[in-house]
Amino acid sequence: MKHVKQEFNKDSSDCIALLGSTGSIGTQTLDVARRLGLRVCSLSANANIKKLEEQTREFRPAIVSVFSQEAARDFKVRVGDLDVQVVSGMDGLIEAACADDAHTVVTAVVGTIGLLPTLAAIALGKRIALANKETLVCAGEYVMNSAKEHGCEIIPVDSEHSALFQCLCGENPKDIKNLILTASGGPFRGMTHNALINATPEMALRHPNWSMGKKISIDSATLMNKGLEVIEAVHLFAINPDRIKVVIHPESIIHSMIEYTDNSVIAQMSEPDMRLPIQYAITYPQRCSSQISELDFSKYSSLTFESPDFETFPCLRLALQTAGISGTACAVLNGANEAAVDLFLQGKLGFYGIFESVQAALSHIGNVVNPSIDDIIEADRAAKDFVYMQKN
Ligand code: MG
Repeated sequence: MKHVKQEFNKDSSDCIALLGSTGSIGTQTLDVARRLGLRVCSLSANANIKKLEEQTREFRPAIVSVFSQEAARDFKVRVGDLDVQVVSGMDGLIEAACADDAHTVVTAVVGTIGLLPTLAAIALGKRIALANKETLVCAGEYVMNSAKEHGCEIIPVDSEHSALFQCLCGENPKDIKNLILTASGGPFRGMTHNALINATPEMALRHPNWSMGKKISIDSATLMNKGLEVIEAVHLFAINPDRIKVVIHPESIIHSMIEYTDNSVIAQMSEPDMRLPIQYAITYPQRCSSQISELDFSKYSSLTFESPDFETFPCLRLALQTAGISGTACAVLNGANEAAVDLFLQGKLGFYGIFESVQAALSHIGNVVNPSIDDIIEADRAAKDFVYMQKN
């Protein structure tokens, strides 16, 4: 049978709201939108108003949210000739997430700032294309319950979780034996603890396979990213953390795998390009032609696998230990990590200072069982305050 180029059959699902449009996932989402001919009904960014103006002129959204109030005022002047509503702050971000026409909300903001807008969009029954893993790490139980209650689909954009989601299509979740999350190993794979004591942000930002934002690049260097992804998978797939394995796979071709009860393992593969999971989350259950290169097996004579090195990358161990604790512990882990990565990027904390800060926050801040959303937000704030206070 000849391959026929498959266009996206849009129906009513052709309009997206995009939270975090100027970041790495945001700009790649707009690449996908351009290619699929999607409408974009809202855009949002923190303060990069130059890029946001270009995006606004191209996609003509009805609402644009600029988180910083000062930047929002400047932005309003810049787009004075356009028919666009400019909003700001957390209320503005929530308004952008709830934009009337949006069928799918792509949550590409970084950090716990994504939590409330995501919950607001869930309450309206919109599809969530979830790229903001911190939302599930902090408040996974709460978010998944809310999605169930409102009949809302959460489709992962994180490449590993998109892979798992795809490996699960047509299968019974009851037949899952283990989830196998692959990890590239990051820029410091194969290095020792001693060699990394003086690792700098510049060294940590050089990821071998993926081009990503700064926060996630540092999380990839410490392997905290993989730990956060295990917690994300716990909630997305309602599975115990002891049934999630992490395997280092430096080529980043297999994006994750599911081992079923009969020991059959199903893997999802592609070139490492985030536009594929982004597109799939928008078009699911359809598959359409994409701008991603075909996988050329002649280029990859071997695919390799190794076990993670928990001594050199203690953040991964810490995250796996925390993954099994229900309550606010994961919110503390995540919040402390966010602050510690910020301090590391500013040169105020060493590479292993990230691990030490997160570990100290976890032992200092008590776990609240059955937390409300306010408890979760408070745990996040307390963890960040704790880490910043240690350095000031
Ligand atoms: Mg990932």
